[in-house]
Amino acid sequence: MANIAFIGLGNMGGPMAANLVKAGHKVTGFDLVQASKDAAKADGVGIAASALDAVKGADVVVTMLPAGKHVLSVWKEIIPSVGKNTLMIDCSTIDVESARFAHGHALEHNLPSIDAPVSGGTGGAKGATLTFMCGGSDAAFAAARPILENMGKKVVHCGEAGAGQAAKICNNMILGISMIGVSEAFALGEKLGLSHQALFDVASTSSGQCWSLTSYCPVPGPVPASPANNDYKPGFAAALMLKDLRLSQEAAKAAGAATPLGAHAESIYDAFEKAGHGGVDFSGIIKHVRGLAK
Ligand code: NAD
Repeated sequence: MANIAFIGLGNMGGPMAANLVKAGHKVTGFDLVQASKDAAKADGVGIAASALDAVKGADVVVTMLPAGKHVLSVWKEIIPSVGKNTLMIDCSTIDVESARFAHGHALEHNLPSIDAPVSGGTGGAKGATLTFMCGGSDAAFAAARPILENMGKKVVHCGEAGAGQAAKICNNMILGISMIGVSEAFALGEKLGLSHQALFDVASTSSGQCWSLTSYCPVPGPVPASPANNDYKPGFAAALMLKDLRLSQEAAKAAGAATPLGAHAESIYDAFEKAGHGGVDFSGIIKHVRGLAK
């Protein structure tokens, strides 16, 4: 069993650290927020006074932080103090450039590192059913895999440094676009007098079929577990979708890729957030789509 430092014990990091404890690891955590530390402590995570204290004697360091700037600042602070061969894992969703920069920083100190963003949300974090998308060397991936398997059901090696983040933002760009597409179809169906169930029954078994329709339907009824049945409580908040769409557009610009629908999806979620709905589930975008009708 490993000695693991876990930095960032929020909505995702807290339950992920708890699952590492359940798997028998010694986990020492740190967060800036007292309530997050208290909740992790109740789950058996040892709480350190600082990130630097948490990484003392760690075989593995996991970070689960809001954005690239937080990851770079924490990695910069702790890397000079971690032991030789300590495995550095970042599970946050961040921009590809910052992820590659973080890997470079680890490499300067000869430390193996992996970017390993997740999909599956807070439910997946609690239930240890996350999917991990990993970027880094074969050796670093082999070392990270058994640790990640304690927190998820699927661990995919996507390629070299930054490839996990690349896979994550490409996937979420599809998701943002497809949710708007499904919402537009329901909004049009409503205007044409089509019932939600009739459109669902046809599209879910036809060529319009996709996850945004069959697992996360943006209208109440056809998929009982979708947030539409719970007043669009997240789930996956629209603000987080906007964050991922912004990351995809930054990456597209830097790499010279054309993503016109990704750019449009970003502007639609941006307007939704500016109207005060960042905390609503991202499938609530259907209300915004309906509101665009003249
Ligand atoms: P969160 O805001 O609940 O947690 C982030 C935690 O990091 C907070 O508790 C914050 O206090 C802590 N933190 C920030 N700076 C710190 C520092 N310098 N030292 C120590 N702790 C620090 O966010 P979350 O929902 O847990 O998301 C974490 C990451 O996972 C994000 O990158 C997010 O995009 C990604 N993600 C979230 C979801 C989701 O459904 N919530 C799903 C997939 C991926």
